[in-house]
Amino acid sequence: MDQRFWDRHAETLPKEDIREIQLRRLREVVERVYTNVGFYNTKLKALGLHPSDVSSLSDLVRLPFTTKADIRSNYPFGLLATPKNQVVEVHMSSGTTGVPTPNYLTLKDVENWSEVSARSLTAAGVTREDVFQITPSLGLFTGGFGFFYGARKIGAFIVPTGAGNTKRQVEIMRELGTTSISAIASYLNRLTEVAHEMGVDPARDLGVRRAIIGSEPFSEEFRARMSKTWAMDIYDIPGMTETYGPGMGIDCYLHDGLHIWEDHYLIEVVDPKTGEPVTKSEERGELVVTTLTKDAMPLLRYRTGDVTYLYDDGECECGRTHRRIGRISGRVDDMIKFRGVNFWPSYIESLILRHPDLSEEYVLEVTSQSGLDEMILKVESKRILDPAERRRLENELKETINKHFYFTPTVMVVDPKTLPRVEVGKAKRFVDKRVR
Ligand SMILES: [Zn+2]
Repeated sequence: MDQRFWDRHAETLPKEDIREIQLRRLREVVERVYTNVGFYNTKLKALGLHPSDVSSLSDLVRLPFTTKADIRSNYPFGLLATPKNQVVEVHMSSGTTGVPTPNYLTLKDVENWSEVSARSLTAAGVTREDVFQITPSLGLFTGGFGFFYGARKIGAFIVPTGAGNTKRQVEIMRELGTTSISAIASYLNRLTEVAHEMGVDPARDLGVRRAIIGSEPFSEEFRARMSKTWAMDIYDIPGMTETYGPGMGIDCYLHDGLHIWEDHYLIEVVDPKTGEPVTKSEERGELVVTTLTKDAMPLLRYRTGDVTYLYDDGECECGRTHRRIGRISGRVDDMIKFRGVNFWPSYIESLILRHPDLSEEYVLEVTSQSGLDEMILKVESKRILDPAERRRLENELKETINKHFYFTPTVMVVDPKTLPRVEVGKAKRFVDKRVR
């Protein structure tokens, strides 16, 4: 077996074959939701569309979008395309509003998810020789299960530690000889910090040589730093509850964009305001996904809220023919509008990490106390600094940010381990205290 591919045939299909599969599957999906899902039946009819109107992939743009709000307002079972007794599993994300976004799986879905996840993990170099530790939680959150299903299919030795209990995680890595891990980006930070507290040098004392990181955007500077600290290769895996979870694609060893498994997902990038497909090459916009093989809950043109861009359709040197997208730079809703400048907190991270004395832990707060938007960036230093060093660093970082964004935030360099840590789930890096 070729260890670089999970399914060499599927992953290296000629582009025209992929398009043919996509069209056939798109037509099947539209037919299924038209027949079985009242929500889509109503939407398609309102647009005067019948499944037979889909005769080429260019008809995709005529189909209606599905938003997160649509999924929520159809909670719990409004978007189910199969009888409930065929469902074998549910996952959901709760979001900030409290109304869940569910995803249901039939056995066919479990098989598809395992397949795309196995392809992704294999692209990251995971084989059956690996001891694979899963640090995202195995529960309603999709993170743990997505990795579990892929690694199970590959036949790796799975260590399903789930989230939290960080000291024990590090001990287990040493005791069982973990070689690969999956984690949320901020949790990799936490693991690093706790390992150091325990006197463990990850590069020297642990055998973890590969991390598959998802669920939070991270900067290239973060990747470079963590790769060095652990002497490992770091892969970026996109995914969300609505597309199963981690596994819809991954960056290959060349780390140049994320391959999306196009026989399972049909992707577009649209202007988040107008919903029109972006026209310029590499123009950023919102990722829109139509699921081509989901059984229980297929989605047409799902507005993911993730910001990215399409690579041109050229081939990647790794041999995979599936189209690449840029690494997710943030969420449409997380975009910070500050004094007329739009940006994502992850851009700030990349600027912070250019300063070797600053750590990966930071919080960005925006307030409007004085009537004008003010930004306060608190970032931890890597060691205790004297007041002069601290001021020097604060000024340097202010300058770096000003050069990029043309505004100067208040920068506070704080002592190591003084900002709040997250053991389970995603870190809260941005706090908006503005009065609207
Ligand atoms: Zn590639």
